[in-house]
Amino acid sequence: MKTMKFLACCALALLVAAPAFATANIVIVNTNAPGVGFNDPTPAVPAGGNPGTTVGQQRLNAFQYAADIWGSILDSPVTIYIQSSFTPLACTATAATLGSAGPIQVFRDFPNAELPGHWYHVALANKLAGFDLSPGPNGTSADDIIARFNSNLGQPTCLPGSGWYYGFDANHGTKIDLVTVLLHEFGHGLGFSGFYDKASGALLAGFPDVYGKYNFSTTFNKSWPQMTDLERKTATIDTNHVVWTGINVTAAVPSVLAFGTPLVTVNTPASLGTYRVGTAAFGPVLSSPGVTGDVALAIDASNVAGPSTTDGCTAITNDLTGKIALLDRGTCGFVVKVKNAQDAGAIGVLIADNAIGAPPAGMAGVDPTITIPSVRVSLANGNALKAALSGTVNVTMGVNMAVRAGADPAGRALLNAPDPVVLGSSISHWDPIAFPNLLMEPAINADLTHGVDLTRQEMIDIGWFSDGDGVPDGVDQCINSSTSATVVIDGCNSGAPNTTFATGCRISDQINDCTVGAANHGAFVSCVSALTNSLKAQGVITGQQKGAIQSCAARASH
Ligand SMILES: [Zn+2]
Repeated sequence: MKTMKFLACCALALLVAAPAFATANIVIVNTNAPGVGFNDPTPAVPAGGNPGTTVGQQRLNAFQYAADIWGSILDSPVTIYIQSSFTPLACTATAATLGSAGPIQVFRDFPNAELPGHWYHVALANKLAGFDLSPGPNGTSADDIIARFNSNLGQPTCLPGSGWYYGFDANHGTKIDLVTVLLHEFGHGLGFSGFYDKASGALLAGFPDVYGKYNFSTTFNKSWPQMTDLERKTATIDTNHVVWTGINVTAAVPSVLAFGTPLVTVNTPASLGTYRVGTAAFGPVLSSPGVTGDVALAIDASNVAGPSTTDGCTAITNDLTGKIALLDRGTCGFVVKVKNAQDAGAIGVLIADNAIGAPPAGMAGVDPTITIPSVRVSLANGNALKAALSGTVNVTMGVNMAVRAGADPAGRALLNAPDPVVLGSSISHWDPIAFPNLLMEPAINADLTHGVDLTRQEMIDIGWFSDGDGVPDGVDQCINSSTSATVVIDGCNSGAPNTTFATGCRISDQINDCTVGAANHGAFVSCVSALTNSLKAQGVITGQQKGAIQSCAARASH
């Protein structure tokens, strides 16, 4: 078993509601000094169901409330400790880091690890192992998740006019809902985060992680562990082409994400595919089926109003009747360009960005005389269209009702892959194009209401609901690897009872997990040893039975 101390740091969050049948005990460890943070004695009026009578109490109550939501969703025999504090974090008058959280340690190749050679968040590793892999006093690295939240929010230098809402009812008004942000940040700590170096693509100490197992590039047609560092670095900024492939998330996408994605679909040449767009604040909103036409480069005079002949800043000189005009961003406002194209007969406008980066941002501006739709596409996509203009280029610009907002055309959830990379945000969030809004988007949306939407299925995919079926797919079912009344390993009958647990799984299923997860005989024996020590500690088997099972494991061919 290998372990690494690890501190992840992320961004913001949001969410929805989930069934409560599982249980994990999640404890908030208060590491604030007296008088500040959770210990702030400033009087507060109970509100929104939070009964605290001081600011500090209300903060602590909100933390425990959010912890209990996750605790009711996840299932673990090992208590999860969240080392928590309120502390000044990065902040300006217009932007703030609300909070951050991540696992304190990561483990791989521990007993009952579903995926050999993959890092796991410590809370999940503990759950799978069935015991605390890192026992020790609170307030040390023996805790499982570290969470820091911004104590200055709402101060004159830190998003003045905002501030935390500590109520439990999501009725936060213009304030920022602490429970929502907590659910998001705890999500990172519990399993919604990858550990590779997003700048270089390098794996953590050379090993992939369980989160990355389900990160998949539709460009390279590879998952994160299958890539070279360079491929991983490239895929990290490949907007619109990184999806989550876990089967539980994919199965839930139709019930969570709505149909309708604003896109440019290149009909001819079809090899160019579909383009992500930035939408305009002016003109008609994109519709379905949208506007279809041949693309023409709009040409204007090169002059002081716009030095380029393709910037659309002065009157267009070629006939664009019935065409979708292609223009470059720059020099003049978006509404000037679109109006000039409209005056030349265009039925729609594509504005190609003039700087690299993706996804394309929206377009601001006001002009009530604009009656044709317009969108912004990335520089790379604009260049691809221009390169194809030696032949016919036909596109549809509109809301593609066949593609769900936040999913790829195959129905898999998109991950956030902006270009350039955003270290605390890239890949470890859903794509912000998702609609309805999701808890684990990079920024907190104000309409979230304390649910965990697709993140619950993500937790299933990475193994939070594994119960010993030996299949690393997170599907909650046993394979009943042996129905024998006693534990038998490779024909060696230990005589120990093959106890069936509340999950329906037997001890033999757990041993099968060791078989699947261990790379060699030594790892298998070590895994069975840890398992049987845990079973004896729980009173499931006797010391003699433990010895008998371990003896059979030592003689097994695995
Ligand atoms: Zn985040």
